[in-house]
Order: sequence, then C-alpha cells, then structure tokens
Amino acid sequence: MGKYTSNKLQIYNTLTGEKEVFKSLSEGAIGMYVCGPTVYSNVHLGNVRTFMSFDMIFRYFKHLDYKVRYVRNITDAGHLENDADQGEDRIAKKARLEQIEPMEVVQRYTVDFHNILNTFNFLPPSIEPTATGHIVEQIEIIKTILEKELAYEANGSIYFDVLKYNESNNYGILSGRNVEDLIHNTRLLDGQSDKKNPQDFALWKKAEPQHIMRWPSPWSDGFPGWHLECTAMSTKYLGENFDIHGGGMDLKFPHHECEIAQAKAWHNHSPVNYWMHANMLTLNGQKMAKSTGNNILPAEILNGDNDKLTKGFSAPVVRFFMMQAHYRSILDFSNDALLASEKGFTKLMEAVSSLSKIEATKDANDFDAIKWRSNCYAAMNDDFNTPILIAELFSAVKYINQIKDNKASITNSNLSILKETMQQFVFDILGLENIATNDQNNKLGATIELLINMRNEARAQKDFALSDKIRDELIGIGIQLKDGKDGTTFILD
Ligand SMILES: [Zn+2]
Repeated sequence: MGKYTSNKLQIYNTLTGEKEVFKSLSEGAIGMYVCGPTVYSNVHLGNVRTFMSFDMIFRYFKHLDYKVRYVRNITDAGHLENDADQGEDRIAKKARLEQIEPMEVVQRYTVDFHNILNTFNFLPPSIEPTATGHIVEQIEIIKTILEKELAYEANGSIYFDVLKYNESNNYGILSGRNVEDLIHNTRLLDGQSDKKNPQDFALWKKAEPQHIMRWPSPWSDGFPGWHLECTAMSTKYLGENFDIHGGGMDLKFPHHECEIAQAKAWHNHSPVNYWMHANMLTLNGQKMAKSTGNNILPAEILNGDNDKLTKGFSAPVVRFFMMQAHYRSILDFSNDALLASEKGFTKLMEAVSSLSKIEATKDANDFDAIKWRSNCYAAMNDDFNTPILIAELFSAVKYINQIKDNKASITNSNLSILKETMQQFVFDILGLENIATNDQNNKLGATIELLINMRNEARAQKDFALSDKIRDELIGIGIQLKDGKDGTTFILD
C-alpha cells in the first residue's frame, strides 16, 4: 500500500475553479502532461519557475508512492510569433536571422534548457517528446477532425471551426471566455487570413515558399499548428483521458482551450481530469520582458552578471526562493528577496547539519515529531502549499537549535522521525541540495581573492608568465577575472 492511500491530497482544478480531492484514473498511477519550452532562445526565468513547480509536484507524487508517467514536450516547430496564427515560426525566424539550420537552433536551446534544469536539480520527465517527431500523428488527427466536419480547408491550410464546435460543445470551458465575446473582441484584417472566423485556429498551415520547416500532407507542404502537438503527444503517451495537464497561466487561453476542443472533436472525450496552472514571475514588481530590459537569465542569477543583482546566488538558494511562494501566487524576483532567501536557506542547511550530530535523551522530550510530520503532509496535501511546508520546517529548525544549545531535548524515536522527515521534505520533495552554502561561498570568494592578490604581486614584479598562468587556469575552471578601475573582480561561469 502506497503512502497515497493515507494522504487526502487536494488539487486546485482550473477547470472547475475549486480545490478537489484528487483521485487518479487508475489506482496508484498518475499520467501528467506539462507543456514544455519552445526552443528558440535561452529558457526564460518565468518558465523555470513553472517547470520547477511541476518538478516539485512530480517529486511529491513519487514520494506518495504513485507510479507517475510525466510527459513534458519540446516544441521544435509550429509555434508562430503570435497566437492569431500569423507571423513566422519562432524557430525558423531565429534560424534565418542567425543563418543556421532550424535544427541547430533547436539543438542549441534544448541543450541550454537541459543544462539550466540540471543546475536547478530537476528530475528528468519520464518522456520528453518533440513536435517534429510526431508530425504523422498530427496529420492523422486532422484527417479525423475534417471527417467530422469540425475543421475546414482554406488555400492548403486547415482551420478548426470554433463556431461549429461550439454548437454542441463549450469552447471556453477552461478559460471562462465565451464565443460571442471573442467574436466581438477579435478583429480580422481583410485579406490577412483564410479563416472563416477570427477565433478559428490553425491545425495545419501551408508553408510559404521561403519557409524551411515543412512536411508533406494531403493538403499542402506545411507544418502543424502549435496547439495540435500537445494533443497528439499527450494522447499518444497518456491516453485519450489522463489525470493532470499543467503549464504556465499564460497557456490557459488559447493553447489549453484549443487542446480541449481538438481532443473532443477527435475522440469525443474531455482529455484531462485536472488542469493545473502555475503563476507568473515578475522582476522588481514589473512583468519581465526582453524588450524593456526588465529581464534576467537563469545563468545570470548564478554568476551575478546582471546589473539588477549585487552578486551571484547558488542554484539551491534560487530554488528555495521559488519554493517559498505557492505555485498559484505571483512571485516577485528581486535582489533583496534573494538575499533574504539566502539567509533562510543557510539557516535551514545549518540546522540539517546540526541534526546529524544531535543525540537523543532517554526520557525528556519537548517535541511531538509525529504531529509535526503530519503538519508537513497536511501542507503539501493542501494543493502543494510549499510556503506552509517551509514554515513547518522552520519550526523544526528552531527546535533543533534549542537542542543544540542544550535548551531542549528529544527522545530517540522522535529524533529518527525528525531526521527522516527533514531529509524527505527538504531534499526529496522540495529538491534542495546542501551545496554552496554561504559559508562555502565565502571560502570560495576568499580563495579567489588570494589568487587575485598573488597575480597582482606577480604583475608588480613583472612576472607575467605567472600572472597569466593564474588568470588562464582560473578561466579553465570557469572563473573569469575582470580588471577594472577599482581593481579586479571575478565572475563564475
Ligand atoms: Zn502545450
């Protein structure tokens, strides 16, 4: 019997707007699909937060002894610049601008995505399928939807007929939008589209002559619409009806709304029982956007190479910072917030180290570990409430510090529950790692300062062979020295 049998897990379901008791379709097993990145640029920090939320959820399911099949796709074709099925394919555009093959763009940014996720200690999903690997499946779905007359061909492209679908279904069931409002609010520029109605969306787009990413189909040489790939891949690996579909809040409409419509048009089932959406990340109170400069890359947080930061922060500190907010709340990223999280994280790691050295006393006990452990589970069972969980962990930290200072005591059985539960929640579920604490960072900084001083002495004595050797060997291990008018500083790659 898995731990899931004794935990009443509640999940907020976007589809119903309520927290619901979670029940998986098949006993002890979960199918979960999360929309992955479009690999045309470095992964956005906001996306890292979304994927981290689902990593934590995946970890908790595993902890509860569920057998989880977690599918997170890679979008390597079909995602156009704007949601109205217009503009260039994002990957093809990047390839054109950089004069490289589209698949080089895909490879470069897929590698970047995996590197960043590894740095932040993500577990790999069970399956990571790509859109271009599932073109055949997408064409087959389009054929069925056409047969059911819920899509139409126009000039080699295929569009989903939203109005026709809405006659016997509810387009807007997830996002709460209604078709009449959509019609009034969407303007279609004359001659810009082959669509019958502006709210229709592309299942297949005919490729313009200059478009490099193209596949043959019964209708034209072209490429699939972005929404269709997720329907194809989720159904292929999880079935026509599966437990959980997740993604960022911005994907609720139109992407996920379209996924529901496609699946119902295709196989008559509502595809997903629980829709989950992770909220946004802002930077210094503003939306993050490359165009306004209010942006920071995940790698820059680590090396501190961004003018919005006073220093770099270790990956576990950033992870701890993100876990301090509930996944459905907006989280604001700032240097001050990171500094505060660093202090909290260090305190937590110090307590974990102290815990390994604590000894139990035979009779005296001031801590009810069983009650505390059930509070930790209650926090996670309440729609994965990590901030409440962290507050519970800190009540244990306070107690650990009291024992260390001989102001409290603990029995053997309570101590073993405390140790095991801390290990499970801090490392297995929150995914934190006890590396690069403040103290270690300080020691690293002091060591590099020592080498910078030795290099300066070598230069003063005109021993350039030695000074260059110090600089080059530091570069070799990923530490770059920067000479400026206020002396030499360093950044970690
Ligand atoms: Zn998707």
